[in-house]
Amino acid sequence: MRFDIFSLFPEIFPTYLDTSILKKAQDAGHLEVHTHNIRDYTTDKHHTTDDTPYGGGGGMVMKPEPIFTAVETVLGTPAKCPIILMSPQGRLFNQEIAFELAKYDHLALLCGRYESLDERIRQHLVTDSISIGDYVLTGGELPALIIVDAVTRLLPGVLGDPEAAVDDSHATGILEYPHYTRPPEFRGWGIPDVLLSGNHAEIDRWRRHEALRRTLAQRPDLLIKADLSQEDLAFLESLGYHP
Ligand code: SAM
Repeated sequence: MRFDIFSLFPEIFPTYLDTSILKKAQDAGHLEVHTHNIRDYTTDKHHTTDDTPYGGGGGMVMKPEPIFTAVETVLGTPAKCPIILMSPQGRLFNQEIAFELAKYDHLALLCGRYESLDERIRQHLVTDSISIGDYVLTGGELPALIIVDAVTRLLPGVLGDPEAAVDDSHATGILEYPHYTRPPEFRGWGIPDVLLSGNHAEIDRWRRHEALRRTLAQRPDLLIKADLSQEDLAFLESLGYHP
């Protein structure tokens, strides 16, 4: 999977990308990230990337020319991959969208800064907009890293245990079950006996129940869309859930 990321501050990316699983994914050839400084595509002597808004008002607006030039120089015209704008006005990122994006072998991410971008970029260059949440950040670099991270761990071969992403919270429509590791007793707190039983059918049943119990407690909204069996529903009803 190749990402091309367009930003005014590409120096933000290396520390995160060169660490842990993302680093290993790049070393193993599963992930390629190319960052591009939008400022390198300006043509005036001051390397201007923003200007005041037509109609007045506060804040600066990112100019269209350097962004169009950067994207078209790197990706060609027409671009053969989605060009995704990081925007608090975009569709809300979630695990389903991460799975959707993981099917592409090439994505371009455009990071905004300042008050906004010239609307013609949204209208005539980008093909999708994604928000990472209902709050406003100073720039699109963290959202871009979040997307690279969430998508990369879904790529075949990236996680040591291929099952890890399958059970993750949200991958199955509900939250993941609780985990425990050694020691079996810590400060007087033990672990559920079933996990030491060696009975894998019982362990699976316990995990499913705990995942359902946790989802009901923390995110009952997820249960409406989750794929639930009759047994799941009976268990949830025993906890007081009424669909
Ligand atoms: N004035 C803009 C608005 O209300 O839509 C917000 C601009 S924000 C200060 C600057 C840039 O940060 C945006 O262009 C976008 O790239 C990025 N950004 C901020 N919040 C974001 C979010 N929740 N999700 C994705 N990108 C975001």
